[in-house]
Amino acid sequence: MNTEIEDIKSRLSVREVIGGYVQLTKAGVSWKGLCPFHHEKSPSFIVNEERASWHCFGCGKGGDIFSFVMEIDGLSFPEALALLAERAGIVLERRSRRGTGARYGGTLSNEGDGVESVSGAGISKERLFAILDLSSKFFEKQLWDGEGKKKALPYLRDRGLSDESIRTFRLGYALPGWRTLSDFLAGKDFSPSEIEAAGMAIEKGMKNGEWKMKEGESSANANNQNGEDLLHSPFPIPHSIYDRFRDRVTFPVFDVAGRVIGFSARVLPGADETTAKYINTPETFVYHKSRALYGFFQAKRAIRERQHVLFVEGNMDVIAMYQAGFPETVAVSGTALTEEQLRIVKRYTDRLLLFFDMDSAGQKASRKSAEMALLLGFSVSVVSIGEGKDAAELARENVESLRDALTGALPAPEYFLRRACAERDCRTAEGKQRIAEDILSLVSCVAKKIEQAHWIHMLSNRIGVAENDLFALLKSTALPVVKNSERALESEVAERVPKKQVFQLSSERIGRDVAAILLACPALLPLPLENVPERVFSFVSRNPLLSFLSGETPETFLFSAIPEEMKLEASEGAFSGEKLLGSSGDSDGIDVEHARMVFDQIWARLSDELRREEMRDIERAMRMAHDRGDREEEQRLNTRLFEAGKE
Ligand SMILES: [Zn+2]
Repeated sequence: MNTEIEDIKSRLSVREVIGGYVQLTKAGVSWKGLCPFHHEKSPSFIVNEERASWHCFGCGKGGDIFSFVMEIDGLSFPEALALLAERAGIVLERRSRRGTGARYGGTLSNEGDGVESVSGAGISKERLFAILDLSSKFFEKQLWDGEGKKKALPYLRDRGLSDESIRTFRLGYALPGWRTLSDFLAGKDFSPSEIEAAGMAIEKGMKNGEWKMKEGESSANANNQNGEDLLHSPFPIPHSIYDRFRDRVTFPVFDVAGRVIGFSARVLPGADETTAKYINTPETFVYHKSRALYGFFQAKRAIRERQHVLFVEGNMDVIAMYQAGFPETVAVSGTALTEEQLRIVKRYTDRLLLFFDMDSAGQKASRKSAEMALLLGFSVSVVSIGEGKDAAELARENVESLRDALTGALPAPEYFLRRACAERDCRTAEGKQRIAEDILSLVSCVAKKIEQAHWIHMLSNRIGVAENDLFALLKSTALPVVKNSERALESEVAERVPKKQVFQLSSERIGRDVAAILLACPALLPLPLENVPERVFSFVSRNPLLSFLSGETPETFLFSAIPEEMKLEASEGAFSGEKLLGSSGDSDGIDVEHARMVFDQIWARLSDELRREEMRDIERAMRMAHDRGDREEEQRLNTRLFEAGKE
């Protein structure tokens, strides 16, 4: 076991493995690049070939090739082992599940999702993967050299697919026979229950009425005379199962490590019209619909390089986009993106473009996906094209306008606001209410407060309702529920969901910084409140901590005298104040002159921001007065606006 790990390490270069994900440049005896695990602009991610290790000085992560692929592809140790063994050309010894993690430093022993894990039915995951991979090869062989060459290949080429992309996505063809694949797999020593568990066959009699084959009928259609292994099925098995995919083009679905986990299969034109256009592998031990992402394996490198992901609706769209020069495209296999899918994507990028069909189903899916993605901290844009078109069509026919559509993608709140305003009358009371509710439920998902404020401002302008009223409505808007299932994002989500949605204006945040600096450096007290505009004075008096501090001097200030209800806020403030001042937390180390300079800047910013906010409020009130036709009020406000601008 340990020798296998050492063997793999000695055969694979750490630079090459990591170089597949991160662009590395030579730096002395090591290699360096931008860390894929945290956001940075100058490289602190170092790869050392001699020690076969990597380390990031920015986020502190590090390890060997195994920990690297586990981290970057989200694999368990046994999965990483299988992936790298395959790359190294090493056949792993069969071993018990328990031994795997435990012997690898002991730290990974809780990874139960191993290659050797066994399903409830006593079927090993490793054998399911073998069935799926063999099935994919079987289908591919039929497409290029078998019956599919005449039936399916011309259809795919007709749809504009190049041979190169057909091979990249490993498309194939499932023969029309009832047991062609099952017989072939049985010939490779897989049992009917294993074939069924992999989702490749259906147990006879399970679906009433579907099984129409007569006893003794052979699995025809296979080219039995042609002795080639993958083209025929020499071992007929008892008729307890039949092939799930028949006479269809097959699209294998891969996991992030590139293993086939299931299939999506499309009916050929002119074939039995009564059947579904696409059928998919059901939930199996290795295929989970809520986690599968069609095209992700092929797209992940481009996603990381381009720092965004493009979501389309269908498999064909993915391939068409790939051909048109957008390899960062992935299909949503269900109706909308799930949380699990997004958590996988989040390891690669946090920018997301939704490119769904313009029909109502597509738009609904787009909206649901946007909400979930915003909630998980993604920045989300929506691509829109003419009604009745889809991504694949545009990619095939007009790459130029496709490019325009992509660059013209609108941030999700703006996109949906435009739609809402097109659908409803934003001048009537009812229209305003409906639009506000619609957009606020989306804005409530936005993680960043400043962004939230931005969208509220836009909504306020558009429908002529005061921002404060919209904020009040926002607070009462329920946030969609997110499960805290994964560690990676747990804290991020937990931080947001349980707390009340309390909005914060920029001035409030700056006000916090002002208090923070005073707490870290009380020598700066008292607050310079002489000759400040009224708005600054009233801001300070509304803020309990600031108004407490405004009554203190360097001589009188005692941390212990801070009222109980503000203690926590104050100690957090002192801590962040030290950070703002660049001190390591040693209070003697604070340079008062430097602190005074920082304070003056922030104090001036607070004053600026308060003025800006007041002017925004006046402008909005003016617009409303204008809409009402109240000339007098409009004039009065205009004077106020002018005065506020002068101060
Ligand atoms: Zn890092």
